[in-house]
Parts: sequence; structure tokens; C-alpha cells
Amino acid sequence: MTQGPKDLSTPLLKLETFPELLLKHHGKGLFAPIAQWKKSNKTPPVLLFTGQAGIGKRAMAMFLAQWLLCENPEPQGSPAPCKSCHSCRSFLAGSHTAYTEIIPDEDAESLKIDQFRELRATVGFGTYHHQLRIILIPHVERMTLQAANSMLKLLEETPAGWQFLLTTHDATLLLPTLVSRCQTVKLKPLPLLEIQNLLMERGMNPIQSQVCAELSQGSWDRALSFAQDDLWNKRKEVLKFLEEPHLHLNSLIDWAAQKNSNFETLVDFLEQLTSDLLNWASQVPLEAPEQYAWKTPDARSELAAQARSQIQKQGSLEMARTFWLDQAERLGQSRHEIHLPLNRKVLIQDVLFPWIHPGIKNVGSPDLAGPRL
Ligand SMILES: [Zn+2]
Repeated sequence: MTQGPKDLSTPLLKLETFPELLLKHHGKGLFAPIAQWKKSNKTPPVLLFTGQAGIGKRAMAMFLAQWLLCENPEPQGSPAPCKSCHSCRSFLAGSHTAYTEIIPDEDAESLKIDQFRELRATVGFGTYHHQLRIILIPHVERMTLQAANSMLKLLEETPAGWQFLLTTHDATLLLPTLVSRCQTVKLKPLPLLEIQNLLMERGMNPIQSQVCAELSQGSWDRALSFAQDDLWNKRKEVLKFLEEPHLHLNSLIDWAAQKNSNFETLVDFLEQLTSDLLNWASQVPLEAPEQYAWKTPDARSELAAQARSQIQKQGSLEMARTFWLDQAERLGQSRHEIHLPLNRKVLIQDVLFPWIHPGIKNVGSPDLAGPRL
């Protein structure tokens, strides 16, 4: 086993295991409007939880479902299910008859129309202990078009007592007609310091925790993926690229060309480092790069080397700063371009080449037609 705590990926560390953290950060924005709706008896029948992946949308929706079904919920000041009533016990055992979660069938990636036909077939049937019936659909963007249309039919006249809880990381992937029937609840990214502390509690060293938290953009799932050995080691290679780009160029191009997520990870790494370089270059007065308190502390020597060599290549600090600014902009653009029908390898070359040859400027799409070398 190489360094890096492997057990960070165990299912035990899913966000659901940090209910206090989630309630602390999402609870207020979620429960205040719901308490208000309940009071006026006007809870919107479809709630859509949005916010980036890995911030606990599904966990919060489940918590809300348990709370809504609970027979003895805690007072409204700090809403919480009692965890001991009949309803809570069957909910926690996964056998509550008034609660349904719709996820893709095994081996399937999307939510299929049959699943919604089955749901519609249960309207008016079954005996529920509660008048309320809750249907949770995580990753609702995974619905096929047919499934979405079937769902829309169901929502045309939402069955009495039915409460839908939907989650998605990107509401623009949904049919606008569906979104217009939802009350959107937007959840925010988790605080980076909180993520860093959680990682340290799991035994990760402070520096790696800090770097992974910064890279996470407030998503616990992202923090965990950056903590994995393969990505953490790949990041080390990107650091070496800053120091001696020509030695690591081909290997990085090959890796990033394998799949979009690799490319996006490369962009994440480079953006973090470029931002650090820009912060350094914007100081007045300028501190020597070897003395500077870089935000990515494990990359001190590589960042200092890049600072010195880029100034030499570009001819002045001001030119080097312009270079890093250009690269930051280029990286941002490339996040969109990777989803366009472009030659992926050529795109990666366009992003990385300028780091090697000061004379090479980014071409940028839509001129990325063919290979150039
Ligand atoms: Zn209860």
C-alpha cells in the first residue's frame, strides 16, 4: 500500500454518516420554509433539491422524509425526527410503506419509464398508515425522456398526500416543464474548513487535507476522490510538470486523453496552482518565491521553480503574470470545450504546450481542427 489513507473511500464515509454537519449547514435554509408551508398547509407537492454533487442533497431529502413521516417530531425550533416512533423505526429499517425511493435498476444508468408506470399504478391503492406518501428521486436528471413525460403526467394532478422530493446537481439537464412544477431548494457547498477537519479526523495529514479540501469546492465526494492514491499521485506529477514540463508532458497528455473526468481533474489541479502563482505575482512588495507562504504548501519548491523559470521565459514578472492569467482563462474555457465534439488530445495539447514553449500561444476552439506539432 502506498501512502494515503485507503479507507477514505469506504461507504461508511458517505455524507449520510455526518447528519450533524449537514443539518448545521443546510438545516436552516431547508426547515424554515418547510415549517412555514406546513403552518399554512401549503407545502409544494414537488421539492427539487439542487446544488453541486457531493454536498448531501439526498441525505437531507431522506432526513426531511423521515421528519415529515415521524409521529412525534421534535419541536419546530430544531426540527428532527424522534427516531423511536413506529414510523421512524420502519423508516430506519428501510421498510416504511409510505416511503419510496426510485433509483435506476441494477446495471442501468437511467430511470426508466416502467418505474414511473409502476408508481402511477399505485395511485389510490394500498393502505398506508399515513395519509402522506413520500417519493424520493435522487439524480432526477437520469430520467429518460419517456420517464420524464410519465412523471409529468403524474404531476398534472399530484395524488392527494403525495410528496415528491427530487435531487439534481444540474437543473438545466431537466425538462423545463418539470422544473416549472417544482419548488426549488438550493443547497450550498460545504465549508472547506469543515471538509478539511473531517479529513483530518479520518487520519489524513493536515497538508493533504488542506489541499483536498481546497480542490473539493465544497463537495465531500470530490474531496474523497482527490484523496485517493491514484489522483493524489497524479497531482504530484502535475507539480513536477510545473518544474520540468517537457519531462511530464506526454504522460499527462496520455492520461488526460483517456476520459473527460481525467481531463477535468488535470484542469482542477492546474487551476489551483495557477491561482497560487497569480496570488504570488500580485503581491506588493513581491516576496521571493522561496519565502512565500504558498496556499498549496506541498508544492512550494515546484511553484517557486515555476515562478522563477516563467519570469525568465517571458522576460519580466509582468509578462509572467499575463501568461498565468492567460492560462487561467484558457483552463476555464477548456472545461466547456471538453464537452464539444473536438479532438480531445489536440485540446489537451493546446492547454499544455504554452507551459513549455513561451512562443506557443493557445489557439483555442473553434480553431482546434487538427493536430499541430
Ligand atoms: Zn418518529
